[in-house]
Amino acid sequence: MTTAPVHRGSRLYVKKFGGTSVGSLERIGVVAEQIAEAYRLGEHQVIVCSAMAGETNRLYALAQQLGGEAPARELDMLVATGEQVSIALLCIALQQRGVNARSLLASQVPIRTSSMHGAADIEQIDSHHLQQLLHAGIVPVVAGFQGVDAAGNITTLGRGGSDTTAVALAAALAADECQIFTDVDGVFTTDPAIEPTARKLDCISFTEMLALARHGAKVLHPDSVATAQRYRVPLRVLSSFTPGQGTLIEEAMPATSRVTGIAIHRHQALLTHANPLQAHELRQQIQALLRHCGVSFETDDSASNLWFGVQQQQYSQLVAAMAQLNSSAISCKCFPSLSRLSVVAGVVPSISRLTQNIDDLLEGEGIDVKLTSCSTAALSVWVDEANTDRAVRVLHHGFGLNKV
Ligand code: ADP
Ligand code: ASP
Ligand code: MG
Repeated sequence: MTTAPVHRGSRLYVKKFGGTSVGSLERIGVVAEQIAEAYRLGEHQVIVCSAMAGETNRLYALAQQLGGEAPARELDMLVATGEQVSIALLCIALQQRGVNARSLLASQVPIRTSSMHGAADIEQIDSHHLQQLLHAGIVPVVAGFQGVDAAGNITTLGRGGSDTTAVALAAALAADECQIFTDVDGVFTTDPAIEPTARKLDCISFTEMLALARHGAKVLHPDSVATAQRYRVPLRVLSSFTPGQGTLIEEAMPATSRVTGIAIHRHQALLTHANPLQAHELRQQIQALLRHCGVSFETDDSASNLWFGVQQQQYSQLVAAMAQLNSSAISCKCFPSLSRLSVVAGVVPSISRLTQNIDDLLEGEGIDVKLTSCSTAALSVWVDEANTDRAVRVLHHGFGLNKV
C-alpha cells in the first residue's frame, strides 16, 4: 500500500462507526450530529461505516435459506450490500445537517483486494479521489468490509472487516489518527459484556492488542491491528454512545510482565493425545487427513503432546476424518464443546509459572483445563464451554485485573 500525505493545516481523522453505532435511524442521526459538529470545527474526516447491526447476519441467513452452498462470489455480492445502505443513510442525514458528504463503495475509492472471496486482503488503495474530495471540503463516507479485485468482482474482508478498511484508509491517507467508534468505551481487560468489573485501558501496545484480537477480543479485527502496526497508524477505540478518550493503541509502551487482559474464543473443539509413542508420524498422518477433508485446524508442531484445535462447526468432520485412521489413533480424546481463554501479557514472564497460576486458579474452582498452549504474548487454556463465563471471572479476579 502506498501512503501519501494529504493534509496541511488541520488534522485528518479516519472515523469508523460499527454496526451498533449505526444500528437504527436514531443512531444514524446521533452519529451524523457528531460528524457535523467536527465538520463545523473545521476537522478533516473520512468516515467508514459498517452495515446496520444484524444486517450482515440477515443477508448470510437469506443465502442459507436457499439451501446448498452459495458460490463465494455471489455471497460477497449479497453481504456487501449492508454497507451500501448505511453509507447512503448516513450521507442523507449528514446533508440534512449541512455537511457536504458523499458516499463511496469500495470500487469507487477504489480499494483493491485479492480475489479470496469472504477473506480478501487489501492490496492497494488509490487515495487520489479521496484527497480530491477532502480538498474540496467534502466528507467521504466509505463502505467498510468490502473491496474490488483486479477483475472487478466485489469481495469482502471477513466478518468485522470494516475495522481493517478504516485502518488501511488511514495508512493510505497518512491520517493523524484512526478512530474506531463502537458500543463500549474502549479496550477493556476482558469483554465487559461477560465481566462487569473489567477495566478500560487508557493505552495498550500493538503487540498486546494484536494478541487480544487474535484470541477473540472482537472489539478490533486482528488484521486492522496488524495493518496499524505495520504502517504506524495511531489507532484509538472509543464509544459513539458516551464521550471519552477511549483507548489508544501505540507502539511505545514499556514492556511489562503484568497480565494485560483475557480474550475468549467460544465454540471450539479439540482433539488431544497425551503421549503417543509415534507422535511425529501420527501428527503428520492426522494433518494430511484433515487437510484432505478440508478441515481448518490449529496445532503446535513443537509441543510434546499432540493436539488439533478446530472450530466447533467442523467437529463432525474432525471425528469423521479420525474414523479413517488406524488403531494408533484410538487413544485420541475428542472434546466437542470448549472455549479457549487466553491470558495476554506484553512479556510472558515464565511460561511454567503462568501456567501453574492459571491451573491453580481454575482447578481451585473445580474447572478442568483440557489443554494449555503458548503463542506470542499469550497463554491459552481450553475449558468446557459451559464454564466460560465463570472461568473468565476467576482469572480476571485472580490476576487482579479489576484493580489499577
Ligand atoms: P462494532 O459493531 O462496533 O464493530 P463489535 O461488536 O465488533 O463492535 O465489537 C465491540 C464488542 O467487543 C463489545 O460490545 C464487547 O462486548 C466486545 N469485546 C470483546 N472483548 C473486548 C475487550 N477486551 N474490550 C472491549 N470490548 C470487547
Ligand atoms: N458488516 C460486517 C460484519 O458484520 C463488517 C463489520 O461490521 O465490520 O461482519
Ligand atoms: Mg466489529
